[in-house]
Amino acid sequence: MEWQLMTKEQKDITGIIRNFLEKELAPVVPEHEEKSEFPMEVFKKIGEIGLWGLDIPAEYGGPGFDLQTLSLIREEFGRVDCGFAVSFGAATVGFKQVLAGGNEQQKQAMAKRLLNGEISAMCITEPQSGSDVAGTKTRAVLSGDEYIINGTKTFITNGGLANVYIVVAVTNPDLGSRGLSCFIVERDTPGVSVGKEENKMGIRLSNTTDVVFQNVHVPVENRIGEEGDGFKIVMKALEKSRPICIAPLIGMAQRAIEIAAEYCRVRTPYGKPIGKLQGIQFKIADMEIQLQTARAIMMYAAKVADEGKPISCLGSVSKTYVSEAAFTIIDEALQILGGYGYSKEYPIEKMLRDVRVYRIFEGTNEVQRQIIGKTVIGKC
Ligand SMILES: Cc1cc2nc3c(=O)[nH]c(=O)nc-3n(C[C@H](O)[C@H](O)[C@H](O)COP(=O)(O)OP(=O)(O)OC[C@H]3O[C@@H](n4cnc5c(N)ncnc54)[C@H](O)[C@@H]3O)c2cc1C
Repeated sequence: MEWQLMTKEQKDITGIIRNFLEKELAPVVPEHEEKSEFPMEVFKKIGEIGLWGLDIPAEYGGPGFDLQTLSLIREEFGRVDCGFAVSFGAATVGFKQVLAGGNEQQKQAMAKRLLNGEISAMCITEPQSGSDVAGTKTRAVLSGDEYIINGTKTFITNGGLANVYIVVAVTNPDLGSRGLSCFIVERDTPGVSVGKEENKMGIRLSNTTDVVFQNVHVPVENRIGEEGDGFKIVMKALEKSRPICIAPLIGMAQRAIEIAAEYCRVRTPYGKPIGKLQGIQFKIADMEIQLQTARAIMMYAAKVADEGKPISCLGSVSKTYVSEAAFTIIDEALQILGGYGYSKEYPIEKMLRDVRVYRIFEGTNEVQRQIIGKTVIGKC
């Protein structure tokens, strides 16, 4: 069942996107899945229909969709391919960081570039530290009117595709998380290189690589905010994106239910469709209950964020619940398809591989539970 509170504008835009993705993306998914490659030609065509920079606000030249509309749009991407959804969504991550702490010139410049089809990437994670952002080792040392950056980032979405990176680096090693700063680093700066590409279990259309910085000279004006603001900026930007980063999963889980329901109608092991078996009906019912609950939580979180109200705990609830519900829904869909569900000839096994990463990135679900638990318990 679709979101019944869709406005006419939301129906129109999601309809356009569904048609486009079914025509342009769906046919090329198997080939790119096999090669583990982002379909750049589809990204370019999205630009031709004016849909780059979907989450850039109107005051910076973007379409100015609210988070509720963006969630419904992202569902459409997830219906077709979650890997593409991840890379497409992350392409504008640079604007979110700049919006969270940058100056007006940085915001205008970044928005313009991303609306013109440039791609950004967010470089936080390092080989020794993902959840532990304060454990960052990449150093940025001030020298005259430049910083010199050295370090290696890993698991970077769009690492090999980006024109511009947002890099978190230590400017004061004595201050822990308060000693981190954020920098805008151009891909073509000498000393920047793309390292190994991850050979991933799922979301194989999304590009994920190491990015290496060796004596990279960056002008002081490329720092976002003040020295020491890095952790605050990253957390502020993540807080806004987290509640709806899971939107593609709603689309993917919805599609898994549709495929399972169709199978229930046509699979006749005892001379009658399995859809007539109460044990199967109950499975489908539980899947639908979880899907509708997941979408309702996500849309509620998006509305709260749209209204500018505090979102931290609710964002973590949304990310955690939706990523786990979607996993269960898709796993149960695979079960309903029996042996065929496990076969690569049917789309469900790919969905199960794609959904898994959502419990890991954008802050692991363990870290989200820590945020939720701490918020509920309060000071003790
Ligand atoms: C496909 C993909 C794309 C990614 N894209 C990006 C990107 O674009 N940019 C970027 O910077 N990073 C990216 N990441 C990295 C991702 O954010 C990290 O993998 C994630 O934050 C977890 O860090 P880690 O892998 O180092 O695990 P660790 O932090 O080492 O965690 C190991 C285990 O310990 C648990 N743990 C950690 N802290 C706690 C705690 N406080 N309480 C309880 N348990 C805890 C974790 O939940 C996990 O189970 C991506 C990762 C993947 C897989």
